[in-house]
Amino acid sequence: MASGKNRRTEEENREFNQDWTESFAFICNTDGLPTCLICHETLAYNKKSNLERHFTTKHTRFADKYPTGDARKKAVEELQKKQQQQQQSSSMLRNWVQSSNNVNLERFTV
Ligand SMILES: [Zn+2]
Repeated sequence: MASGKNRRTEEENREFNQDWTESFAFICNTDGLPTCLICHETLAYNKKSNLERHFTTKHTRFADKYPTGDARKKAVEELQKKQQQQQQSSSMLRNWVQSSNNVNLERFTV
């Protein structure tokens, strides 16, 4: 966290706040909406109160197990890594399916 600027417009800000990743285990998906790293639910709004409610009502065990600080940070990082790995393997699979389709198509036309 190297940014030294204060973010006072947090509540009005409709953009995903990077701090939410560590605080509530949410990441920003490709549509710019917050996605829960724990249950993969996507929320409809970038609203801190919504994320907070989701996290504190649905993931109390996670919050208990990893109180804020280093433990939470590490746990969230692990979740992010897992998520990235999943995305990578699914795109690899897609590429594989695509290339094997191409092969079939080529054979078909020959
Ligand atoms: Zn969740």
